[in-house]
Amino acid sequence: MLTDQQALRYSSNLLIGSIGESGQQRLLDSQVLIIGLGGLGTPASQYLASSGVGQLTLMDHDKVSLSNLQRQMLYSGLDVGLPKVTQAAQRLADINPDVDITTLSQAASEDTLREHIGTCDIVLDCTDNRDTRYLINRYCYWFNKPLISGAARGFNGQVVALHPGHDHGCYQCLYPTEVKEPLDCSNAGIAAPVVGIIGAMQSLLAIQYLTQHELPWGLLQSFDGLGHQWHVAELPKSATCPICGGENANNR
Ligand SMILES: [Zn+2]
Repeated sequence: MLTDQQALRYSSNLLIGSIGESGQQRLLDSQVLIIGLGGLGTPASQYLASSGVGQLTLMDHDKVSLSNLQRQMLYSGLDVGLPKVTQAAQRLADINPDVDITTLSQAASEDTLREHIGTCDIVLDCTDNRDTRYLINRYCYWFNKPLISGAARGFNGQVVALHPGHDHGCYQCLYPTEVKEPLDCSNAGIAAPVVGIIGAMQSLLAIQYLTQHELPWGLLQSFDGLGHQWHVAELPKSATCPICGGENANNR
């Protein structure tokens, strides 16, 4: 049962027929793990907090730098040099004090993922490097958790919703080890609105999932930020994938 304050705060959600009070309650009862509080994680976390996701776990080992302020809109110049997760948590609490926020100022590692993936409902990969993405993908499949993976570089971005229980490929199928260079902004430029669009898409997919809407599982959605077009392609399962498809899959 929503309080009067919650009914007012979430009134725009409640007016959507396919969310309504039951969907809002599901959001309030949900726990989302956001890994990476940079250009993708900051917009995603804002929408999830403002929409009333009950528990957010923020994982990032980094500190705010001056170059982050071009696109990471949760932070200000006053945050430079301070841990991203603590500063993000303060802003998100200002937006919605009802959200229970856990901050983990540590990198995604085998130990941290093993400890924190199991309790969440869905994982958002908002990181910016390939090795961490492989690791998150592996642990989501291990723990049977849905994963919303986003990436952006230059004027291009992509997002895909992965579910270990569905018959599609995983992140490692998309980028077999060492074959292609994934789309990451860690060592390349990024147009700020593009990473905001992809981060917002990640939050939208998470809200869809948590409110029991259908998701485009295994469809890679690529955004051309100069042509303003979305391209959609299926992500097939690779028979040799050690995570989701090969004979060694699920033998972790
Ligand atoms: Zn795979």
